[in-house]
Order: sequence, then structure tokens, then C-alpha cells
Amino acid sequence: DEKLLEVNQLKKHFDVGKGKVLKAVNDVSFYVNKGETFGLVGESGCGKSTIGRTILGLYDKTEGDVIYDGLDVHSLTEKGKFKIYRKMQMIFQDPYASLNPRSTVREVIAEPMEVHGLFKTKREQLERVYELLEEVGLNRDHANRYPHEFSGGQRQRIGIARALALEPEFIIADEPISALDVSVQAQVVNLLKELQVEKGLTFLFIAHDLSMVKQISDRIGVMYLGNLVELTSSKALYDEPLHPYTKALLSAIPIPDPDIEESRERIILEGELPSPIDPPSGCVFRTRCPFAMEVCAEVQPPWQEVEQDHYVACHLYNNEVEDKTPLKEPAVQR
Ligand code: SF4
Ligand code: MG
Repeated sequence: DEKLLEVNQLKKHFDVGKGKVLKAVNDVSFYVNKGETFGLVGESGCGKSTIGRTILGLYDKTEGDVIYDGLDVHSLTEKGKFKIYRKMQMIFQDPYASLNPRSTVREVIAEPMEVHGLFKTKREQLERVYELLEEVGLNRDHANRYPHEFSGGQRQRIGIARALALEPEFIIADEPISALDVSVQAQVVNLLKELQVEKGLTFLFIAHDLSMVKQISDRIGVMYLGNLVELTSSKALYDEPLHPYTKALLSAIPIPDPDIEESRERIILEGELPSPIDPPSGCVFRTRCPFAMEVCAEVQPPWQEVEQDHYVACHLYNNEVEDKTPLKEPAVQR
């Protein structure tokens, strides 16, 4: 497998005034292979979108590296950035908010092509707009209409057509289906999968729950409060989740198979997500973890490869910790 994107020990902190720092992303490392879909999952506010925006250079990094196709993107010249960001595009959660309501669908889709001076004539450009509309399951009659005339699912298709306009290699899809009806979600996911096969696209797929991500992702990283807590193949994450937070996210998904339903440990998440301005000491998940031990408040759990290609940050899997007695009786339903 060839790595297209590497994120190494990325940190993104925001100064929020009065000497306080919002630690949005802490030492996050992962890579995305060419042609695969990497899912990034976690509750809102856990830093997923910040990672996406930092990869795209919309935010400066605080520390670490973003390597795209062998190039350190944050150290490129403006010209180099302009060239590389053409290959990387983003699809947003709320397609309506990301589309200018005063522009026609044609203008919305053509804008990135104009910025990059892709076509010499309006005619050629319009032909390309028609082609893109058809690729996303719309048609040329839609070109002169306005985004608000469309349903949520159709608007997301317009957003996808716009993202495809520059023939990118890599797409960051930031919760592209979260705002859509469940019935429409599957259609958009299927469209993305078809486009991926057709065009050899690589995806970073950001989501707040695990339900749809399993179907689309090859590998998945689970984030909590700015930290990556588990990373492995989509299959291993579902079959043998290790981190208590991953187990809690999985417990929130209804399972159609009653046998799995019975065997799987169900963890119900309690309490609030702490503020990333004042995160808990030691393990960031400890205030909500049913298995929290004494060591969890004192020592940050190391990022360990527990099984091949299965990484987790949790003291339950840390051989250096001898006493694994939970502080209280874990509230786990079996
Ligand atoms: Fe829970 Fe401790 Fe593991 Fe954190 S390190 S997830 S608090 S058991
Ligand atoms: Mg977000």
C-alpha cells in the first residue's frame, strides 16, 4: 500500500485569551493509503474537523507534520500550496451553508474551475458542469437553478460535484451525511463509493458515530477530546473493539443480529464531554470511563500496537500497569 497522506504527531492549539489554550488536537498520527477510505470518528468537538482543516492548510499547525504525496504541505511556498490543494478537496456537513445561496448551481460548481483557470471558454466550462452534474446523479437542467430549490440530498450532490470539479485525488468529507435523512444517507454514501472506484479517489471520512462509517471505511481512527484513542481496520474495530470509548460508541448502534447483541459488552456513556481547555489529567476519557483505575488520573496511557495494526491508548492494555482494579464497580450491561 502506498501512503498518500501522513499526519505525524499533529498538534493544533488555539489561544482563547486570558492565558488559556484550547487543545483541539494533541499528537495525532495516522496515515491514509492511496485509494482507501480512512474514517475519523468521535463526538462533536473532539477535533476531527480541526484535523481536516489543518490538513488542508485552512489552519496553521501548532506542531507536527502533514505530509501529502511526500511533500510537507505546511512548508510549501504559496505557489506550491495552490498546486497541492487543487488535489485535495473538502465536502462539508451542511451543503446549504457551504453553497452560496445567490449563485446558481452552475456558478457554484464552476467557481473552483475559474479560480484555477481550467477552461478557456465558457462553453467548455459549461460542458464540464453538465458532465459533473451527471456524475453525481443530477442533470443539466439543474444547472441554472439555485441551491435552495433542492433537497438536502441533492444539495450534497451539488457539493460533491463542486469538490470533483478540479479532479482531486483526495477528498475530506466532513460529516457529509450527518444532516441528511437516514434514507438519503445511504444514497450519498453509495455515490461516494461509486465515485471512489471510478476515479480512484482517496477519502478521509469524518463522522460523529460509527453507524455508516463501517460500510465506507477501510480503517478507522477513534478520537476523544483531541486525542486518537484507537486505530485499526474497520473489521477489527467492530469485531474486537479495545478502547472503552470505542465500545461505548458501538453500544450506541442498534445491532440487527441478536447473537452479537447478547455477546457484546454494552457501555452506556455517562457524563459530559469535558472542555478541551481544561482536559482531565492522565487519560482524557477517565471522567466517563467505567473502568477508570488509579493510574488513569496520573499517567497518560501510551499509544500501543496491541495486535498487528491495532493501536490503542488505554492502561487496560498496558503491561506496565499491575493493579487494574477499577475505582468503582463498572456500569456495564452484559
Ligand atoms: Fe479508561 Fe483508564 Fe483506559 Fe482511560 S486509560 S480508557 S480511564 S481504563
Ligand atoms: Mg466537526
